[in-house]
Amino acid sequence: MKFVGAHVSAAGGVFNAPINAKEIGAKAFAIFTKNQRQWKAKPLTEDAVRKFKENLKAVGIKPEHVLPHDSYLINLGSPDPEKRRKSLEAFIDEVERCYQLGLKYLNFHPGSHLRKISEEECLKIVADSVNEAISRTRDIVLVIENTAGQGSNVGYRFEHIAQIIELVEDKSRIGVCLDTCHLFAAGYDIRTREAYEKTMEEFDQIVGFKYLKGMHLNDAKSQLGSRVDRHHSIGKGNIGLEAFRFIMNDPRLDNIPLILETIDPSIWKEEIELLYSLVE
Ligand code: MN
Ligand code: MN
Ligand code: ZN
Repeated sequence: MKFVGAHVSAAGGVFNAPINAKEIGAKAFAIFTKNQRQWKAKPLTEDAVRKFKENLKAVGIKPEHVLPHDSYLINLGSPDPEKRRKSLEAFIDEVERCYQLGLKYLNFHPGSHLRKISEEECLKIVADSVNEAISRTRDIVLVIENTAGQGSNVGYRFEHIAQIIELVEDKSRIGVCLDTCHLFAAGYDIRTREAYEKTMEEFDQIVGFKYLKGMHLNDAKSQLGSRVDRHHSIGKGNIGLEAFRFIMNDPRLDNIPLILETIDPSIWKEEIELLYSLVE
């Protein structure tokens, strides 16, 4: 069974997110547990946590189908020790927020080398950050997102993700989220049956499906291998609808959150219906 949803708004409080998800017919959702463009946030109140859990239960969405996303400011691979420290403390705070909300995952972007260190060194710093975050928190599985490779972001090759996982001591606390737009922009084709199977086989060989905890379903305005991160609505971009048919019929992608981060929230309900209509 497939669990499709979108990255919904948590405006007014995290407890509004499950309601927003329900309104678009989502069976899964992503959220920011705090303002994603600010370093600091007020702690979650007991009341907010209780309301979140109640609403989640009321809409019938399970905690494992919620894929919270960390702040865009965080760079766990920063070459600057002070900025890396600031990022790590903010990240740990987010892991704790997810734990308080009774969730299972926190999705993050590996980091950027800012052209000051090599990709290899950056990946090592990311893994060190992840190890520290794991040792200072409980339960939450930290879910690495593959990137488009825009700017100096690492994580656009499956090898990068595998390298981070290899360096993480507690592998029960690390996972992966595949973003289709980022895959495509990084040069992994999924437009034909043959290309899709080749990309997924490569992912399995290098990383392993056992680590796959979620996906971001986005079409792309950018070109294959362009390393440009520009999302588009499903079926309207350069990836095209067929790829999403392969996804919706791939049993390896059952029971994990499949999250839209497409550009027009006003059509998310239709996009979710469209995706379910592809199931054969
Ligand atoms: Mn992301
Ligand atoms: Mn994404
Ligand atoms: Zn993106």
